[in-house]
Amino acid sequence: MNTPNPTLNATSLRDISCADDYDPNSMPVPKAREVIARFLSPITTIERVSVRAALGRVLAEDVISPVDVPSHDNSAMDGYAVRFADLKADGQVTLKMTGSSFAGVPFKGAVAAGEAVRIMTGGVVPSGADTIVMQEHAEAKDGQISIGSGHKKNQHLRRAGEDLQRGQPALRRGQPLRPAETGLIASLGIAEVSVHRKLRVAFFSTGDELVSIGSPLGEGQIYDSNRYTLHAMLTRLGCEVIDMGVVRDDPKLLESAFREAAAVADVVITSGGVSVGEADFVKDLLNQMGEVVFWKIAMKPGRPLAYGKIGKAHFFGLPGNPVSVMVTFYQFVRDALLKLSGRDPIEALPTFKVPCTSVLKKAPGRTEFQRGILSRDSAGNLSVRVTGEQGSGILRSMSEANCFIILGIDQGNVTSGTLVEVQVMEGVI
Ligand code: AMP
Ligand code: MG
Repeated sequence: MNTPNPTLNATSLRDISCADDYDPNSMPVPKAREVIARFLSPITTIERVSVRAALGRVLAEDVISPVDVPSHDNSAMDGYAVRFADLKADGQVTLKMTGSSFAGVPFKGAVAAGEAVRIMTGGVVPSGADTIVMQEHAEAKDGQISIGSGHKKNQHLRRAGEDLQRGQPALRRGQPLRPAETGLIASLGIAEVSVHRKLRVAFFSTGDELVSIGSPLGEGQIYDSNRYTLHAMLTRLGCEVIDMGVVRDDPKLLESAFREAAAVADVVITSGGVSVGEADFVKDLLNQMGEVVFWKIAMKPGRPLAYGKIGKAHFFGLPGNPVSVMVTFYQFVRDALLKLSGRDPIEALPTFKVPCTSVLKKAPGRTEFQRGILSRDSAGNLSVRVTGEQGSGILRSMSEANCFIILGIDQGNVTSGTLVEVQVMEGVI
């Protein structure tokens, strides 16, 4: 190859923006991801929100524990709190029951030699006691209990501060707040947390053929589905969405749409109009308005992709085909939006290998994201099959699929039974 590839140490998109200099098929998927990642820094505005309202948001500051967790030494079992020194290495011992310690109702006194206190899970361990004997290992009768041998000192005790000590970070900035974090924050008695403000994402569809739902179709027209898919994907990611509708393939209208979007949003996403020829005016327009790179990515579907800045806003120009929109969104835009939202680290979507029961057509030289159905046979073994026709306009293939089958750049045709890499969509999409 005699044309330069984008350099990863470029500091400006201008350094990597001569898209026409590239071999049209030469930008591998991981390289495009790396280049985009270089230009992203998280939004800095912070908001204080209540724990419940924080679900789905990203922590902007560490949460420091104001308490020890657990706050007291307590029992992990229903049983008896005893002094280990009273137990025998061999044979039975009988102890006097002097009271009880239930969760929320501690025993007031201390456990003296020869004594035991009935204790329930979560009950505070009374002073003097250092060991819990499970109720299954003791026999209670007439205010006394008999305990056999074989116990260990400190058994079944949960120590104060063993999960978390006061002053330690319970959660780190960059952490997305899910149900577990919501409960954890509440367990520390904290009512409000600092989160990054929601990322504002404006999006519109481009195309003279597009009609929004609610209007009848004219000849040669189709319903705009990309705006609805994008709305759904962005909403799932926790973004504030700004739907700017359909914009005709008209440079003037496009220019004002880009300007309006870039003025209000952190990120502008469009679909359509980035393929060769048709996109030329969009390209010129964006080159005047900002720094935008048009790439031919070595992938299928989703080959044309534009990325750059318009003013302060990041811009993603996705292809028009509905499947390409979803694939490029999940392979490039998702991670970028998470990073801009303050998420750190960004977990790559997990992949693993399973046998493929279909025969797959695949040309080397590009990464393919075929739509697959992962299932288990009666013996519990996982395998994947393809959804059928893989045209990038067949959105039903995304609906039928529960995973992407990712075929690497060098991979050729796949015979039945070959191990292939899959990426599960559930929980992601
Ligand atoms: P384009 O990239 O604009 O050439 O579009 C490629 C294909 O995707 C064409 O068949 C378009 O009609 C179709 N397409 C573009 N935008 C949308 C959209 N918003 N909803 C559904 N199909 C679309
Ligand atoms: Mg178009």
